[in-house]
Amino acid sequence: MRIDLASTPGHQERPNEDWVSAAAPASGGGVLVVLDGVTPPRGDDGCVHGVPWFVARLGGRLTELSGSRRDMPLDQVLTESVRATADAHRDTCDLSHVRTPQATVVVVRWDGRYVEHLVLSDSVLLLQAPDGEVTAVLDDRLDRIPREVLGSVAATDALRNAEGGFFTAAADPAVAARALTGRTPRERVRAVAALTDGASRWTDTFGQGDWADCLAVLRKEGAQGLIDRVRAVECDPARPSARHKRHDDASAVYAEL
Ligand SMILES: [Zn+2]
Repeated sequence: MRIDLASTPGHQERPNEDWVSAAAPASGGGVLVVLDGVTPPRGDDGCVHGVPWFVARLGGRLTELSGSRRDMPLDQVLTESVRATADAHRDTCDLSHVRTPQATVVVVRWDGRYVEHLVLSDSVLLLQAPDGEVTAVLDDRLDRIPREVLGSVAATDALRNAEGGFFTAAADPAVAARALTGRTPRERVRAVAALTDGASRWTDTFGQGDWADCLAVLRKEGAQGLIDRVRAVECDPARPSARHKRHDDASAVYAEL
């Protein structure tokens, strides 16, 4: 087993709001957790702690529970982790605020029999079969909303964790039912990767290669190699102006099982 991970902030003067962790429990198998904290527009989120505090709490709990409680399905792991994180600041913060700290989630867990996954919001999970074929698991609910509908903070807030909109892990444990989950027989998976959108843009925004090419970069050049390639494209003066901010927190983890 080989696991390689990297995380780079989008801006030197702002904290990285991504979380990446990997665990190889003594019982065997492994766990990967990737979160992308949502930066609150105008900085107003009703929380005295901030997004880095939130992703560290949630990421830590997800890693601990998915590694230690193999009997607990991943959607239940997410339910319990969101609840524990909300409980940690329920008395000090307004958890009913629409922009209460929130994050995208990818969790992958494997043992000798299965590779389980959970994906919520727009971080990317890639599964590679022994023959090299790559399957991307994408929660594209945010991408299906026309850009013009998301033209203002108020319009985006109206769709945030709302029916017909898009879902992130915030303060309501019930969101776990919205996550994409599944499991694949272990012998049908050679490698897995999880990327926040700051790293997946190498494929889905900049079109530098398809998902199989992206996985090939991760294998040959490592997680930092992929992020370095993203930064090179972002800094290319010939690049047409993209709809995304110039740099975003970028995180990637790659595991050969
Ligand atoms: Zn708080």
